[in-house]
Amino acid sequence: MPFSYVSHLYCPKCKKTYSTNKKHQLCECGSPLLVAYNLDALRKDLKPEIIANREPNIWRYHELLPVENSEHIVSLGEGMTPLVPMPRLGRDMDVEQLYMKDEGVIPTGTFKARGAAVGISKAKELGVKNLAMPTNGNAGAAWSLYAARAGIQVTVVMPVDAPVITRNECAIAGADLYLVNGLISDAGAIVSKAIQQRNLYDASTLKEPYRIEGKKTMGLEIAEQFSWKLPDVILYPTGGGVGLIGIYKALKELQDLGWVQGKLPRLVAVQAENCAPIVKAWNQKKQVSEFWPNSSTVAFGINVPKALGDFLVLDALYKTDGCAIAVEDDAIMNEQRNVAHLEGAFICPEGAAAFLAARRLREKGWIRKGERVVVLNTGIGLKYTHTVSIEVPILQPGDHLPERENYS
Ligand SMILES: *Cc1c(COP(=O)(O)O)cnc(C)c1O
Ligand SMILES: [Zn+2]
Repeated sequence: MPFSYVSHLYCPKCKKTYSTNKKHQLCECGSPLLVAYNLDALRKDLKPEIIANREPNIWRYHELLPVENSEHIVSLGEGMTPLVPMPRLGRDMDVEQLYMKDEGVIPTGTFKARGAAVGISKAKELGVKNLAMPTNGNAGAAWSLYAARAGIQVTVVMPVDAPVITRNECAIAGADLYLVNGLISDAGAIVSKAIQQRNLYDASTLKEPYRIEGKKTMGLEIAEQFSWKLPDVILYPTGGGVGLIGIYKALKELQDLGWVQGKLPRLVAVQAENCAPIVKAWNQKKQVSEFWPNSSTVAFGINVPKALGDFLVLDALYKTDGCAIAVEDDAIMNEQRNVAHLEGAFICPEGAAAFLAARRLREKGWIRKGERVVVLNTGIGLKYTHTVSIEVPILQPGDHLPERENYS
């Protein structure tokens, strides 16, 4: 049995195919490329019971990942993050079966580690020595750290407003780091020029085909953690949309393998009110989004004014009877506090946006009573300390605590 059942790359737009043994970026037609697997063979060779006995990390699904030789794997133990029941928050929003898939406890503190682990491993397999990418922070941090482990040199360009901790992560890993006075789209334009001048491998979102395969493992894990019985709704804070495209791809592959039955979960793309290109396109029943001018949000990971894979995100929403919804920054911060108060989880603003969206969709009746709902918390709140502002009384040595009612 081969380690990977990867078969080839294909273009979801023009259907042209490419080999996975050579470096490829976009299709000739400009579309991102996706990875295809030999699922007919895999259906005969592999059963879920075999996977159940493997190590709790993403490589337990190695047949469905693109790395062909296990020696090329670059891993920090990423994956199999907890699927945490949220009963108190669930009662608060009348979603009794509410779960958090907590990506805050993965190496680098965000789910970007999944994309980096698979992207860097495959880059190593393909002999890549130097790569470059624009980032809103978290992806750059994860790729810098995994690249360091692989001995690959990385050039990263991120907005000056990106969370400061992510700069430090890139820098300490030895990345060639630049800040741009602008948005991720501006960083992307600078990286594109550098790619041509310096002959670098372009690791921009969806310009290399393998990051999405790493993010796909969130979908595989959710299915396995529910014993291959899929939930009704999955909410995902959507920037470039790779996570959502990946989850959808995972669920379809599992359907093809016959490991899951019935209707797929309704996928929900959650965006911020001041950066909601996917929501706008979905409201207008469009197949692609338009560039969102002057975008801004505290949920920095979803500040993406135009995503290369927008048509794939929208397709996943339409095909699963899902939806797209935008939420406001102040309400996001409120929900972040709610989650910490009620469930003891310090989640990132992007994750809080997705919980807030669940609340809103339940209020509208779009989420029905009793449905099983999974919210992706894409990162740990500890990476965003600056977004929480508090006031604490300062005492002098020898002071008593101020008067308060007795605790009961
Ligand atoms: C990147 C990121 C997102 C958005 O992910 P996409 O898959 O690019 O849509 C959401 N949350 C956090 C914390 C992120 O870093
Ligand atoms: Zn094409």
